[in-house]
Amino acid sequence: MKVKVDLHVHTCYSYDGLIKPQELVFYAKKAGLNGVAITDHDRVDAALKMVKKVKDFLIIPGTEVSSLNGHIIGLNLQETVPKNLSVEETVDKIHELGGLAVACHPKAVLKASLGQKTSRKFDAVEVINASAFPFKRSIEKAREIANKLGLPQVAGSDAHYAPEIGTAYTIVETEFDCDGVAKAIKNGLCEPFGKPTPLSLKLKREILNLKLKMFPAKSDSCSNNDGFCNLPQCCDS
Ligand SMILES: [Zn+2]
Ligand SMILES: [Zn+2]
Repeated sequence: MKVKVDLHVHTCYSYDGLIKPQELVFYAKKAGLNGVAITDHDRVDAALKMVKKVKDFLIIPGTEVSSLNGHIIGLNLQETVPKNLSVEETVDKIHELGGLAVACHPKAVLKASLGQKTSRKFDAVEVINASAFPFKRSIEKAREIANKLGLPQVAGSDAHYAPEIGTAYTIVETEFDCDGVAKAIKNGLCEPFGKPTPLSLKLKREILNLKLKMFPAKSDSCSNNDGFCNLPQCCDS
């Protein structure tokens, strides 16, 4: 079957994320997705909690690892990957843990991008990242890298704010489970789609972020009304 998944989404467990776990699935379904990979910065705990909690929607546990040379996404993982390792060490660690290593936004400006450090060791390249700048050029350059290395191409929104979920997504020809999606991507049975995150959403996200920093206790951008989120910056009240 064809499965529509956004392979790059942050929750409020990421230091810069606003998406409450309890609103993630609502917005993902609204965007017509069948699944989402939760890829918080350097942690996998929110993703694993969501896997346990959500039964009617595909949650792929993942993480966006801060390697010494740029961000790397590990998909289908049960453990956190240490940060500040080299690209090679990070990819090896993801593979050791049974995950899939994706070179995310490899040519985006203003993000921690791998650029030419992307190698054949990876399982896929994120050629479309909805929040990458400059959008068109970053796609062209990422595609060049993926084609040169002969790697499968995927897409994700890099959403940090719930309405951004699904602005970019990957269609995967697979069984409807995490292992199936990972295996299909590795085998290239996937196609990336997406458009840039609208400026209006980016602005709203920035305003909410600012509000959260200035008034953490009063902000409604994240709450712990289901007792799920435990980070002071997003949930203390
Ligand atoms: Zn990143
Ligand atoms: Zn990200």
